[in-house]
Amino acid sequence: MDGQLAIRLRGVIKRYGPITAVNGLDLDVPQGTCVGLLGPNGAGKSTTMRLLTAQAIADEGELEVLGFRLPAESKQARARCGVTPQLDNLDVTLTVEQNLRVFAHLYRIARADRQAAIERALQIANLVERRDSRVDKLSGGMRRRLLIARALVHRPQLLLLDEPTVGLDPQVRQELWALIDALRAEGTTILMSTHYIEEAQRLADTVLIMSHGSAVAAGSPSDLVAEHAGREAIEVYGAPAALAEAEAAAQAVGLRTRRTGTSISVLGVEGADGRAPEGERRPTNLEDVFVLLTGEEIS
Ligand code: ATP
Repeated sequence: MDGQLAIRLRGVIKRYGPITAVNGLDLDVPQGTCVGLLGPNGAGKSTTMRLLTAQAIADEGELEVLGFRLPAESKQARARCGVTPQLDNLDVTLTVEQNLRVFAHLYRIARADRQAAIERALQIANLVERRDSRVDKLSGGMRRRLLIARALVHRPQLLLLDEPTVGLDPQVRQELWALIDALRAEGTTILMSTHYIEEAQRLADTVLIMSHGSAVAAGSPSDLVAEHAGREAIEVYGAPAALAEAEAAAQAVGLRTRRTGTSISVLGVEGADGRAPEGERRPTNLEDVFVLLTGEEIS
């Protein structure tokens, strides 16, 4: 495998008619790390995930997953990957355990090893006590945990999580984060797509920010913040005209700014002394970088 890379993409392009969903993407996922694809809706995250499972075929570029070239060797790659789709496709007429059993068959786990594999997946996802529940009786958070358990049943070398907590309430999201973080701590290689900045910040060793099908920045969350937004920001509140004025003044002295609905943030103000506007000081964060680079407001 290329220098311990679980995923290696070079110059990948995927078009849908006039739309270029992925536009010259380079992506490295080193083994044993968690990489987060962070981008606004329509940035090309799901398309990238579909390319990695060969559900979509790239028009151009090189794709390698676990050392296998796609699409030619996609079967071998897929057998060693665990995938959780964005849309829950569990069989709601079956129980938790039955869902896992179906996948244990599909992944050709030897009959003698099947029960142990199912037990292990139930334990990881904290679903042992719900093993006999029908899926349509589970909460949204449990269903998401089951989707992850199902992806782990054959001990994959690489886990692909497409928006793992989309649509969950914040408390349930935290539960899922704990599960994903535990997998990461065990050394599972993970590629995750998300449009939740906090999710990327909490879980990913490396975040790749996508916009319009391309990578606009990549690095650890703390490096990205330091590089693009500095250490401190000043938040300026006011009427729209005052905000526009403060924005122009900051930019005129070489400071970067970002908009939120009711304020502007002037970034990298540490050491800017006389040039910095009046306002509330706060540490910079990944959201600043995201807005700066993608031009998107947070939904
Ligand atoms: P989201 O978070 O909304 O899923 P995303 O970053 O995952 O966004 P994609 O779903 O990859 O983005 O979509 C990227 C672009 O490609 C969008 O403009 C989308 O409309 C388009 N697209 C994706 N799949 C198809 C398809 N099967 N046919 C036509 N256009 C598509």
